[in-house]
Amino acid sequence: MIFISLIYFIMTLRIYEKNTKQFNLYLEMYKNQTIDLVKSKRDEYSKLNKTKMTIHKALKMLDSFIDPSDPDLDVPNSIHAYQTAERIRKKYPDNKEFQIIGLIHDLGKVLFSFGEESWAVVGDTYVLGCEIPKSIVYYESTKKYNEPCIYKNGCGLDNLIISYGHDEYLYSVLKGNKNHKISQKYMDVIRYHSFYPWHTNCEYSEFLCEKDSDTLKNVKKFNEFDLYSKEDSVEITEKTKNYYKELLDEYFDGKLNW
Ligand code: FE
Ligand code: FE
Repeated sequence: MIFISLIYFIMTLRIYEKNTKQFNLYLEMYKNQTIDLVKSKRDEYSKLNKTKMTIHKALKMLDSFIDPSDPDLDVPNSIHAYQTAERIRKKYPDNKEFQIIGLIHDLGKVLFSFGEESWAVVGDTYVLGCEIPKSIVYYESTKKYNEPCIYKNGCGLDNLIISYGHDEYLYSVLKGNKNHKISQKYMDVIRYHSFYPWHTNCEYSEFLCEKDSDTLKNVKKFNEFDLYSKEDSVEITEKTKNYYKELLDEYFDGKLNW
């Protein structure tokens, strides 16, 4: 019985209906995300001159934010952060870095505090400058934006121009600050965790290079915890918060440039 209801629960996750706030967000996204837009956001935000703050403060900022792109999540993002970390801790009690990735993976959403619109922060990401795969969310709305392909086969994930959002932003924050111990492996997980057309629908395989198969494995492993955690208890105890506060202190040293 538990098994059947679990299967039912998984099947009912990520269902997108028309004329909802998700629908409008994706319409705006498909209209506004262009190669030039992505390049200019990457340029602007990789300078890391917006603010200086600790990782604790960024986590706290997610208290006042509910993700408008997610049909399954209606609690503040900070709760989703702790739930994701706790799921990982249950299965990997000794892998502290993996737990931290669960906790911080969505911190790039502080982009909202810099005045960014939802379509430049959240939602599944996809590649600009090539055909849009049919499996993408609300595919019918993308048809007029299909472009000729500018990439060579095997060019590698890191050379694709992927729609801008919280993944790329947090990646650039971690890449540009040296006062932390997060490894490249997990920075890549953060960078591609919203790239559902690739990690879940197996699209864009022609562009992958050798090292991308490890990244795919790692992102898929992470994604299990990012999804199913969303219907867990919303009660996060002080004890749990303290555990993660200490963990963050172990991996981050002082303020980061954002
Ligand atoms: Fe995310
Ligand atoms: Fe998430």
